[in-house]
Amino acid sequence: MTQSIAKPKQVDLSTLYDRLRKLGFNQDFIFSNGLPDWWCEEYEASGDAVLTAAAYLSRRFNLDLPSLLNPDLNPIFDAESKALFKTVKNQDANDENVKAELAVAQNLALRVAELIAYTYKCQYQSIVGMTAKEIRAAILDKYTSVTLEALLGFCHEYGIPIGHFAEFPTKVKKFFGMVTQSKGHPVIMVSLCDLSPSRLSFIIAHELGHIALGHLEDGLIISEQNLGMLDQLDDDESAANEFAAELILGQPDRVYYFPHYMTAEALSESAMEKSRRDRVIEKNSNAPQQINRYLSKSLDWDSLSNDYREYLALALGLDIAEIIEESRNCLPVS
Ligand SMILES: [Zn+2]
Repeated sequence: MTQSIAKPKQVDLSTLYDRLRKLGFNQDFIFSNGLPDWWCEEYEASGDAVLTAAAYLSRRFNLDLPSLLNPDLNPIFDAESKALFKTVKNQDANDENVKAELAVAQNLALRVAELIAYTYKCQYQSIVGMTAKEIRAAILDKYTSVTLEALLGFCHEYGIPIGHFAEFPTKVKKFFGMVTQSKGHPVIMVSLCDLSPSRLSFIIAHELGHIALGHLEDGLIISEQNLGMLDQLDDDESAANEFAAELILGQPDRVYYFPHYMTAEALSESAMEKSRRDRVIEKNSNAPQQINRYLSKSLDWDSLSNDYREYLALALGLDIAEIIEESRNCLPVS
């Protein structure tokens, strides 16, 4: 008599999408960001589709592959057991549900940070122990004020990559910025969707504060849900905010007061006057694009697999065709 051996259970494609939807990934997001550009309905009908989809999704979205394929397990993030996310302490972030909601955005950003660190060409020179005053002086040696361009230049010189990443599923909870360590580099991720160089500069300066003040312990990932009022924050967050203010404005407690009753025109004129006086408010431009184009020049795109290259370009809003063309032009002539 032969004994039949039970085949391990495996999810089908629609069950896989359904389980991911419960985690926060809607189907549109899975198709636009999780699967390669050649993915199509015909391929979905093939026998390999579920394994292939799970492999792509686990790599791009930082998900644990066995938990994706086993219908008896809930899908979990790959980094869940090893990474410690520290989120700004405020009322919301102490709530376990909010922490779980933040996990999607944090893990997506973490995977992009890891890809950036893996392919970043510059050597890190530690800034731990540098004061805001010293960094400001180093910047003002080369630039007329502490602008976004100046901060990008300083971080490039010290081997600290900065990326802007905001490709999240629409309904998940998002955050302003994150700083982590990967491949021997601190990596700054800015996630606030704002075109203003001044606002994004403050986030970068705040994350630089965490690095310089030695807040990045092994494996600790700091993400900012918001950069709220000082009295709502813990000591590390207050210290990082003061560091940012001193770095950008020259003193930790400088406050710009704009009365509520000001009209938009008067406010704009007043802001311009203050910016001329203190040279701190930059003209609006596409700051996320400025950050990622600057970063792209320091990345060794050829060191990535085709899929990771396609995904990183998508995640950073860069044109993959331009990147491939540029790396072809850089090939040595034989
Ligand atoms: Zn912080």
